[in-house]
Amino acid sequence: MPIKDLINKLDELLQQQQDKSRFNKYKNPLLSLITPGWYFADSFKLNHSVPLKWENYEKNDYVSKLANNINEIDTSIPEGSTFEVNFCSWYQPYHFAPRDKWGVHIRYRCWGTLSVELYRECPNLINNCIDSVKAAFFYLYIHEFFHHLIENVTSIIEIECKDPFLYVNYLSNIYTKIFNTSECLEESLANSYLFERNDLCHIEKEYLERKLLNQNPGYNSFINYSGANFKDGLNQLISQIATNFEYSSTAKIINIAEKTEFTNIQYLENIPIWIHQTPLPLY
Ligand SMILES: [Zn+2]
Repeated sequence: MPIKDLINKLDELLQQQQDKSRFNKYKNPLLSLITPGWYFADSFKLNHSVPLKWENYEKNDYVSKLANNINEIDTSIPEGSTFEVNFCSWYQPYHFAPRDKWGVHIRYRCWGTLSVELYRECPNLINNCIDSVKAAFFYLYIHEFFHHLIENVTSIIEIECKDPFLYVNYLSNIYTKIFNTSECLEESLANSYLFERNDLCHIEKEYLERKLLNQNPGYNSFINYSGANFKDGLNQLISQIATNFEYSSTAKIINIAEKTEFTNIQYLENIPIWIHQTPLPLY
């Protein structure tokens, strides 16, 4: 289902809700993890005039700007590249306001320092500035794209089960409670999804494996869900989200997930991408 239709159906479902007090509590639980300073900061939308593909990406202004200045990027303060933990990148769901900023968010400085790291250390990228900048982008994007896929699958379940609160309940009661711990299955799977797509981000597999194994708890458990184990992990995660539904319904939903985005690596497009340069002052 095209993303626009999915969002419209979700809105229709929300409008049908009788319980307005619940509707009013529909706040984004992720704000407790990604500080509002970054979450609501000014950001620039990357232009999608061409499909999001490796071959097209050097036409992007940010890529050439970073590549041309790669030797001037200040790496004296380590930024880290553990996605949400370092506020390096995050996914802003369309379930919450402000919906005009939903999509993948990337911090420019972190994209830069990660590019330098790949340029200096990643065996297949050493001294290749353009490809290092592109690889850093796809590394961040593919991980965050997984969170988008999970939101989409949840929306499909919500529409099917006529319950628009599954996603917010999962984020509030499960994800935010176990974030940055070894229990955080969604982060393990997001990294596993990225690891299996090392050809899309052009980062040598062994290098990528070492890098992800050095990340924070949860993130570094990706290795338990690589290869054939990914499917089991995905089933577990969907069971966490659709916790109130019977197995037969969950099994049907897993089918939806398998038939659509999760097996289709070409589905890397049409997601808004936002670049952040400065946090919002919090005073
Ligand atoms: Zn993540």
